[in-house]
Amino acid sequence: MADPKVSNAPRRSQVANFVEGQTMTSITQTIKTRLCIISDTHGVVPKPSKASEYAYREPFPPSEVLLHCGDLTKVGYQTEYEGILDFLKSAPAELKLVIAGNHDITLHEEFYEKSGKTKHGNTAENLQRIREMWTGSEAKKHNIIYLEEGTRSFILKTGATFTVYSSPWQPAYFDWAFTYPRSTDRFNPSPPVVSEKAANPVPNHPAIDIMLTHGPPKGILDVTFQEGENVGCDHLRMAVERCRPRVHCFGHIHEGWGAERMDWGTQKSKKVEVDMEKVVEEKCAKVGPFPGFLYVEYRFPLLNQGTKYSSYCSTSSSNLHFRASRIP
Ligand SMILES: [Zn+2]
Repeated sequence: MADPKVSNAPRRSQVANFVEGQTMTSITQTIKTRLCIISDTHGVVPKPSKASEYAYREPFPPSEVLLHCGDLTKVGYQTEYEGILDFLKSAPAELKLVIAGNHDITLHEEFYEKSGKTKHGNTAENLQRIREMWTGSEAKKHNIIYLEEGTRSFILKTGATFTVYSSPWQPAYFDWAFTYPRSTDRFNPSPPVVSEKAANPVPNHPAIDIMLTHGPPKGILDVTFQEGENVGCDHLRMAVERCRPRVHCFGHIHEGWGAERMDWGTQKSKKVEVDMEKVVEEKCAKVGPFPGFLYVEYRFPLLNQGTKYSSYCSTSSSNLHFRASRIP
């Protein structure tokens, strides 16, 4: 497969190139683009194809873009990364975008320096080697792109172009990586009076097509099983409402698995219903071409200006006990 072209250029300029010299009719021309979204694999790889009771099994559903919303591992051991990296290398997608989650402690250097001993005892992991696994030439050869917090644009072989905002960070919950105090807003531009300015705020609508975060926004697919609390981030909710991407995919709260479609006109969000038997048969929740779910067919280039809907997808692939009961 050809290398997907990765561009750091702001999407706005790409959109401008695309729009220039086009008529209104051609602006609506789109390119079918399938997204396959997974998260919270916690070292678990798809079951063999004969394990037909599991939706999360080989062969993996093909897509143009495979997104992993973080928590690649249970506790950041190199051996855990190796399994999921091998799976991603062979996964049938042109481009594979990956972020870390709170469990991937060895991808958060500052956290590991502080708490690595508590988590791993004296068997210290080689952080540089782990980072190299995700950002080095071997990952790139297989079109795996590890994303930090920020914005990146991509062009697929089909010519489809889209921009992603990514962030592995979520509100503090016990002692894990990539967390911030609930009072901190790292997703919105701060007024000048606030001393702590967000380093990478989520851009305004229509700059972003896909938001890829580990944690959910407050009130969206974020209810915990035990406490029944909404544990998503208030600030992320504000940011997603300001950004209005086509898709906001996330994981973290395994029991939140599912999808909602937000109508910005009515400001109402509606759960997307799926037939679970079909989901197991097809190895994913498949909805297309437009209302989003976990396996989504979207049309790029998006030209987001007219976006009326956003899809929220919570995509944990393992259950609360890190078993492969969930699906892409
Ligand atoms: Zn998590």
